Amino acid sequence: MKRRRFTAFLDWRKWKRVVRVLKELEEGCETPVGRLRQVVDAMAVEMHAGLASEGGSKLKMLLTFVDHLPTGSEIGTYYALDLGGTNFRVLRIQLGGRRSSILSQDVERQPIPQHLMTSTSEDLFDFIASTLKHFVEKEESGSEPSPVRTRELGFTFSFPVKQSSLRSGILIKWTKGFAIEDMVGKEVVELLEAAMVRSGLDMRAALLVNDTVGTLALGRYHDADTVAAVIIGTGTNACYLERADAIIKCQGLLTTSGYMAVNMEWGNFWSSHLPRTSYDIDLDSESPNPNDQGFEKMISGMYLGDIVRRVILRISLESDIFGPVSSRLSIPFILQTPLVAAMHEDDSPELKEVAKILKETLGISEVSLKVRKLAVRICDVVTRRAARLAAAGIVGILKKIGRDGSGGTTGGRSKSDVKMRRTVVAIEGGLYTSYAMFRQYLHGALGEILGEDVAQHVVLQVTEDGSGIGGALLAASYSSILQRG
Ligand code: ADP
Ligand code: MG
Repeated sequence: MKRRRFTAFLDWRKWKRVVRVLKELEEGCETPVGRLRQVVDAMAVEMHAGLASEGGSKLKMLLTFVDHLPTGSEIGTYYALDLGGTNFRVLRIQLGGRRSSILSQDVERQPIPQHLMTSTSEDLFDFIASTLKHFVEKEESGSEPSPVRTRELGFTFSFPVKQSSLRSGILIKWTKGFAIEDMVGKEVVELLEAAMVRSGLDMRAALLVNDTVGTLALGRYHDADTVAAVIIGTGTNACYLERADAIIKCQGLLTTSGYMAVNMEWGNFWSSHLPRTSYDIDLDSESPNPNDQGFEKMISGMYLGDIVRRVILRISLESDIFGPVSSRLSIPFILQTPLVAAMHEDDSPELKEVAKILKETLGISEVSLKVRKLAVRICDVVTRRAARLAAAGIVGILKKIGRDGSGGTTGGRSKSDVKMRRTVVAIEGGLYTSYAMFRQYLHGALGEILGEDVAQHVVLQVTEDGSGIGGALLAASYSSILQRG
C-alpha cells in the first residue's frame, strides 16, 4: 500500500515537471488576436520600409519586373521549370486562348538529390537540364516535327534574387537548406542556359520568376480579383501587386500597367511581437543561417517538425515519461512536418499512428495513451502558432494595399464606411494544401483578425502547381506582348 502511494507520488512529481514544460511552451507560443494585430501592423510597416530604401527593412521587397499578368487570352505551348525546395518540377502547358482553358498540362516531379543541394552550380544545372531534356523528348515524341520556333521556358526559382530585368537577376543568398557557394552573386538564367546548351537542348529561358510570382500569375489567370500570392511549403514567402509609384526606392520605374509584382521575401520578416521560445532560439542558432529567415523558421514545413522534436527531447531529458532518452531525439530534422501532421490528425481512439511514429521515427516505444496525447498536444501548439502567424502576415499585406477593410494604412475611415472589394489571395505549398489542421487554424485566425464582415470578402484560392504553371503562363503572356511589339 505504502509502496503504491510512493509510486503515485513519484508519478505526480514527474507529471508536474512535464506539465510545467508544456505550460511554458503554450505560453511562449500564445497568439491572442491582439498580438496578431501587432504582427499585422509590423508587417505593413516593414513593407513600407523595404519599399522606401534598399536595406531599409529585413523585408527585401524585391522588384520582379512583372508588370503584366496573364489575362486568359494566351495561346501556344510553353515550358516551365520550378526549382525551389524539396521537389523540382518540369512542366509543359498548351494554352487555348480562353480563360481557364489550359488545354493540357503535364508535370513531372523529382526530388532534388541531397548531394546536389550543396554541390556546385554546374552539377545542379546539368542535372536540371538533362531532366528537362528527357521531359521535352518524351512530351514531343509522336507529335509534329519539332517546331521552327525555339521553345520558351519560364524559370521559377524560389530563392532571393535581385532582378535587373524580367530575365536577369543574381542570387542574393540560399535558403531552405541549399548551399552552393559558387552560385551566390551569379546570374541565374545564364547558368541555366549554359547547361541547356551543354545538354544540346534548344530552349530559351524567357523569364526568371519567384514561385510566389508564378502563383500570383496562375491565380490571376483564373480570377482577375487576385492581388497577392502566398507559399507555405518547405519555406514560406509572399508577393503582391504594388503601385509602381509606391516603390520609392526605385524612382521613375517604368511599367506598362502602373503596377509591379513585389517579391516580399517575407520568410525573413522579424518583429519583437513574434512569440519566440527557447526552442526557436536554439533552432536558429544551430541552423546554417542564424538570424536569418526568422518568420520562416516559425512557420514553414522545413522547421515545424524540428520544433516539435526539440520539445519532446526537452521533456524526455526532464522526466522519463518517454522512457529512457532516445538517441534519435538528438538528430536534427529527423521528425519531418508531414509526420507532425499525421500525429496531429490521428483520430484513432488509441492514437495508433502517434504510437507508430514515436516508435519508428523517434525510437520511443510503449508509451501510455496519456503520453501519446501529450505528443499530439505539442504538435497542436506548434502548428497553431505557425498557422496564425501566417494569417497575420496575409492580413499585413491586405492592410498595406488597403484591402483589410480599414481603408488603407493612411485612411482614417472606420471599417463600416468602407465597401470591401472581393479580394483573392492565391495560395500554394504542401503545408497549406496537405495539412488540414494548419489550414483550419489559418482560416480561423483570418476571421478573428479581420472580423467576419471583412473576412467574407477575402478568398484564399489554392492554385495547385501555381509556381510552375504560372511561370509558363508568364512566358506565354510576355511572348505575346513582344510579338505584338
Ligand atoms: P516546395 O515547398 O518544396 O516547393 P511543396 O509546396 O510541395 O514543395 O511543399 C512541400 C513541403 O510541405 C514539405 O517539405 C513539407 O514540409 C510540407 N508538407 C507536405 N505534405 C505535408 C503534410 N501532409 N503535412 C504537413 N506538411 C506537409
Ligand atoms: Mg514550391
